[in-house]
Amino acid sequence: MVGETSDSRGRPSSTTPGTTEEPPSTADLVVIGAGVVGAAAAWFSALAGLRVVVVDRGAVAGGTSGAGEGNVLVSDKEPGPELELAQYSRQVWGEDLGAYGGLWEFESKGGLVVASTPTALDALRTLAERQRALGVDVQEVPGAELHALEPRLTREAAGGALYPQDAQVQPMLAAAHLLRLARRRGAVVRTRTEVVGFLRPGGGRPGDGHAGSPVTGVRTPHGTISAPAVLNAAGTWAGAVAGLAGVELPVLPRRGFVLVTEPLPPATVRHKVYAADYVDAVASSDAELQASPVVEGTGGGTVLIGSTRERVGFDRRPSPPPYGRWPGAPSGCSRCWRRCGRCGCTRASGRTAPTICRSSAPTRAPPDCGTPAATRARASVSRRGRGS
Ligand SMILES: Cc1cc2nc3c(=O)[nH]c(=O)nc-3n(C[C@H](O)[C@H](O)[C@H](O)COP(=O)(O)OP(=O)(O)OC[C@H]3O[C@@H](n4cnc5c(N)ncnc54)[C@H](O)[C@@H]3O)c2cc1C
Repeated sequence: MVGETSDSRGRPSSTTPGTTEEPPSTADLVVIGAGVVGAAAAWFSALAGLRVVVVDRGAVAGGTSGAGEGNVLVSDKEPGPELELAQYSRQVWGEDLGAYGGLWEFESKGGLVVASTPTALDALRTLAERQRALGVDVQEVPGAELHALEPRLTREAAGGALYPQDAQVQPMLAAAHLLRLARRRGAVVRTRTEVVGFLRPGGGRPGDGHAGSPVTGVRTPHGTISAPAVLNAAGTWAGAVAGLAGVELPVLPRRGFVLVTEPLPPATVRHKVYAADYVDAVASSDAELQASPVVEGTGGGTVLIGSTRERVGFDRRPSPPPYGRWPGAPSGCSRCWRRCGRCGCTRASGRTAPTICRSSAPTRAPPDCGTPAATRARASVSRRGRGS
């Protein structure tokens, strides 16, 4: 939800824009989706003087932007269009949006990629060299010096690479504040407003012979909005939205889990620390469960531990197999996980164990797992170094 005001930590208040009100009937641009992409598009378009209307069928950042780690990484990009986009994105977050960075916990903390074996280190060096040639700032770190950068890291790693340009934002805050800023420039945000079709000259529903005619607006249950431009920023659902216009857009969902600890002492983990094989897992189009060790602190003090990726459609239910593949997770870890009685999500057991539950409901620790979060995070980084 977007608020006009912020609390003392820069978080938007709970005041919300009209949710089911009739949207304006015209705009220069309709943005479908109030995630971080739609919010950024709304802000820059409003800044350019366009009359913008943002519609989302749910809440602000209620989609994937409410689940991501918020990394703005150049380190995990192979040379090519994705790296170019990442470099541009880094510049936008750091410069164009730099004055607002405090609102969304922008942190230029750097990424530390760790190679556990000489072979992995060779591959990392090769990638780093290619990235460096394209302007990426990357510094090789000998194995013996890694722990000076990250004291809880294993001392057994072969070496690593430091990417000072890697940064992080809190994506939910970023989406909410970008929309708040856009509203100050006249943008209108309508949540709980689903786009159910497009306006097209002559009717324009798929199959009625007008599917090739230009889109001139959107239909919602609360009214239509005419606009010469419509941006499909529906993220994972962009394919379904495109389908409303008779366009096939192969966007597929991929489920990932990230553990979020309770806030830990400052600098418990200083960088985004991840294993060299993370790049392959991120880039993989494999449907099978991918897991690679990633540990990082956040501006809010929580430590994020991950991560997994798997093609299971839109199924968001937690399941034990990914947990068993977690860095730092003991084998048979599923017994250490239990359902949160309050919201039904799964959280790690233990008094201060990592959790993906955002409720404050305390859980009882099963007898076999009481690892404190700090210890578990440390174990994760160490295991990364051993390549497990
Ligand atoms: C575990 C995990 C970790 C991640 N970590 C990172 C990371 O570190 N760095 C990074 O860059 N990316 C990361 N990502 C990916 C990142 O979160 C997403 O790419 C990003 O949030 C997508 O933003 P978006 O605005 O495109 O989509 P979303 O945030 O999903 O927003 C799309 C919106 O469209 C709305 N919508 C859908 N259909 C309609 C409709 N018919 N009408 C109206 N509204 C509709 C939805 O309600 C939703 O709010 C991660 C993802 C996951 C799952």
